[in-house]
Amino acid sequence: MGGVKEREERKQEQSPAVSSDEKMFRMICNTSSSAFLYYNFASGMIRTLANWSSFFDIEIKCREDFEKIYDCVEEPYIFSLQELLFTERRGLVNDSMVAALKGGKRWMECEATVKYDTEGRPKEKVIRFKDITKFKAQDEELTYMAYYDMLTGLYNRNYFVRLLGEFIQKAQENQKKVAVMFLDIDDFRRINDGLGIIVGDEVVQQFGQFLGTYRGERVIVSRFNSDVYSIGIYDPCGESSVEHIYQTIRERLQKPFILSNGQEFVISVSVGIAEYPEAAQAALELINCAEIVMFKAKSSGKDNLQYFDAPILDDFLQNVMIGNKLKEVAFNENFVMYFQPQYHASDRTLRGVEALLRWKGDDGRMISPSVFIPIAEKNGAIVPIGTWVIEESIRIYADWKKKYHSSLILSINVSAIQYKRPDFISKLMETLEKYEVDPSMVELEITESVLIDDFVEVTNKLLILKDYGFKISLDDFGTGYSSLSYLKGLPINTLKIDKSFIDTVISDNNTKIITESIVYMVKKLGYETVAEGVETKEQFEYLRSIECDNIQGYFLGKPMPSHEVEELLKKTAV
Ligand code: C2E
Ligand code: CA
Ligand code: CA
Repeated sequence: MGGVKEREERKQEQSPAVSSDEKMFRMICNTSSSAFLYYNFASGMIRTLANWSSFFDIEIKCREDFEKIYDCVEEPYIFSLQELLFTERRGLVNDSMVAALKGGKRWMECEATVKYDTEGRPKEKVIRFKDITKFKAQDEELTYMAYYDMLTGLYNRNYFVRLLGEFIQKAQENQKKVAVMFLDIDDFRRINDGLGIIVGDEVVQQFGQFLGTYRGERVIVSRFNSDVYSIGIYDPCGESSVEHIYQTIRERLQKPFILSNGQEFVISVSVGIAEYPEAAQAALELINCAEIVMFKAKSSGKDNLQYFDAPILDDFLQNVMIGNKLKEVAFNENFVMYFQPQYHASDRTLRGVEALLRWKGDDGRMISPSVFIPIAEKNGAIVPIGTWVIEESIRIYADWKKKYHSSLILSINVSAIQYKRPDFISKLMETLEKYEVDPSMVELEITESVLIDDFVEVTNKLLILKDYGFKISLDDFGTGYSSLSYLKGLPINTLKIDKSFIDTVISDNNTKIITESIVYMVKKLGYETVAEGVETKEQFEYLRSIECDNIQGYFLGKPMPSHEVEELLKKTAV
């Protein structure tokens, strides 16, 4: 067979009728793993090229033969494939779809490119069939990762919060209780530091798997992070009462875990318990309460259990104090905006900057926003803070624009609470008008937590913002419910791949594959990608090689005060 094919090719190559363009085209086709279908409208000529036989076991000689292709794909994809093969919509240069081949095990992406003559009539058409089975599998894996903790197979934190919310809602309707047990392994640091992360991981895994045995219709179990677990119980009683579960956990912990190297290991846990409706009304608050009392259990000798009770709230004082401070703070004295550059990966030119808030404590130390923003979100202070962030960063941006005619994109982080305010858009527009900045230069960074509550309302608001010309960026992708399938149709422009992916993208092959698949799929959806937290040259080079569009991270630039951004702008100003 091969010999015949080769002879054919040689004959075609030698034939004077074959133009050099066509030779080149054929060469490209032959080195591709895709299959191509070429159709010439005027002559009616049809050719199948490259890897055709690895996709289809059929010959296509005339347009009627297209029908045969439909027999090769799964039913739900036939209609779209017909559309792709037959319609020649004017002005549409590229059109693509994804289809499963019969048997459902193999996936292909079909992409049509049509060439038109000067009068706008279709002249030629090429359809490329590309095998994307690998990427599909990764999307499924990503969906799994969105709900589960990879190490233990338990639910992850985000999904647990969601399910706990559902328990609470049901409990409200049926006047039942919901308990949360917050568990933390005692002296885990000692295990991790003393015996290494691998041993630590194994302990976490084995204990997690044991906790998994409590799972049931009324019991959900999750690993939050490191050595922290949480159990949610709907209508706790009998076998699923808090006491019974705690007692049986303690019994199990009397015996050692046996690690793969034969080593035996005994651990103890500190447990905090809080119940709906007494302790709190909402999932996150309930978890917080259980966590606070867990610390109490730890500080009173470890290896025990502590129920939530109101006076323990006093321990909260520290937090409340910070909260109050945030409310009364004179913004312009204690707050300052920093900006972190984002670069185009291809040529390292400046794409824009992300505005990041800094808080100067009384002693002059900078307090990280990851400490105070969550508190400000809880006590409502985030609203005035967010308004200040928008005004201050746009004011500074307008100043750069005047001085350096810069056309940077200004990315601003917007909290869910801030975003949901009815006057959010009107206030934002007022500020932009005041400083004469066009919305198209501003990118609003939102996290998935914005989308969770009311998807439709939030999406509508996003559409309005897009209408005004704002860019919308989905922040921290990969840490929440992130599934590529729900991204489809979201009115966003940009997706930021979370630092947690970038951290292990070089060392961990799984992360590498997933990151590649995210970049690939996100591109297909028409969004830009920004990789966050890029710290090394290796990470940078790798991300560039997989065509991630933009890079942000210490490797190219740390967050900096405005005057340092000006130095960058001076260099690039024309
Ligand atoms: P984020 O939006 O994910 O911002 C990126 C964070 O990663 C920033 O931390 C930045 O300094 C840090 N970062 C960037 N590159 C690297 C790197 O290469 N290595 C490491 N280790 N870190 C890197 P930052 O400024 O402390 O902000 C933390 C979080 O606080 C932000 O995460 C964001 O969620 C929130 N935040 C900051 N400013 C604002 C604000 O003005 N409004 C709101 N709502 N949230 C803000
Ligand atoms: Ca951000
Ligand atoms: Ca982020």
